[in-house]
Amino acid sequence: MSAPTPRPGILAIRPYVGGESRVEGAARAIKLSSNEGALGASPKAMEAFRALAGDLHRYPDGGAEALRRAIGARHGLDPQRIVCGSGSDELIGLLCHAYAGPGDEVVYSAHGFLMYPIYARSAGAVPVAAREHALTADVDALLERVGPQTRIVFLANPNNPTGSYLPVADLERLRAGLPADVLLVVDSAYAEYVTRNDYSAGEGLVDVADNVVMTRTFSKIYGLSALRLGWAYCPPAVADVLNRVRSPFNVNAAAQAAGVAALADVAHVERARAHNETWREWTAARIRELGLTVHPSVCNFLLVDFADAADADAFLRSRGIVVRRVGAYGLPGSLRITIGTEAEMRAVADALAEYVRR
Ligand SMILES: *Cc1c(COP(=O)(O)O)cnc(C)c1O
Repeated sequence: MSAPTPRPGILAIRPYVGGESRVEGAARAIKLSSNEGALGASPKAMEAFRALAGDLHRYPDGGAEALRRAIGARHGLDPQRIVCGSGSDELIGLLCHAYAGPGDEVVYSAHGFLMYPIYARSAGAVPVAAREHALTADVDALLERVGPQTRIVFLANPNNPTGSYLPVADLERLRAGLPADVLLVVDSAYAEYVTRNDYSAGEGLVDVADNVVMTRTFSKIYGLSALRLGWAYCPPAVADVLNRVRSPFNVNAAAQAAGVAALADVAHVERARAHNETWREWTAARIRELGLTVHPSVCNFLLVDFADAADADAFLRSRGIVVRRVGAYGLPGSLRITIGTEAEMRAVADALAEYVRR
């Protein structure tokens, strides 16, 4: 008797493990494991969410019209070329399934976001990792791994969990080096946190090429992780493909309503960005004073090296603090620490000081 068998590649997937939120024995953990926005959602987004309760029996707008119009207005983009998703994760998965399949390759950088190899495998394709330089994506290495089987190149810019980024000039060089039939997906999940003037989220690349897509999320600076909301800015042909393969009501009504409200609260995003800048730099300085290596980050998290990351993680847990192990990203000696509230950052700094003094 043979049992139903999934397609080749599916059982090679190591399931994604999200950041934990509980600590044994602690009533309420300090959760710094998933890069969620430190200030939470805009009160206006919360209000829009609550206001929806009376309409839960209604299907959402399958075209997410109002939301796409709001995103377009906020970013100066054509709403027709925007496709919304249940988190940007969904869009990354749809792109893999629509553009890559058995026999194809999907290129990403060695310490790149884990969902790229996971979705590549789920589509039956082979994920191909390109080496990095100084925990930063390397344009030449990415281009070297592109061959006749390559269908997609994924680049998180800036990248999770390293916190590093490529300046727009490098991004342009990457695009210019790709064959016209290879899709470049620039995942700009942390774009709102970046304050460097040589950085671009990638809209400009999408405008000048037929093979570049930019993905964004409401899960990070907008603080709407629970609702699952992301979007992609695409060439018209790619938007058309995504609209064919997505499920008809892929973005729930609460996410659409809260997303529109969140976009309108520009001051909340500004506060979140300023808070992040202040407490990321403060936390990095405190941790460096302890003699630990903190990698440069333009995001809302820090990657910190330890002699024994498992031991440091266990110690932080004993203090009720949950951060992220990143062994699955090829970084077994590091921990990724999300920038939280002031009190949370002070607690992390105190706990780490205690840890190194032991
Ligand atoms: C968090 C994250 C996302 C996914 O965000 P969702 O919109 O919540 O699915 C995508 N890419 C990177 C690099 C991330 O860190």
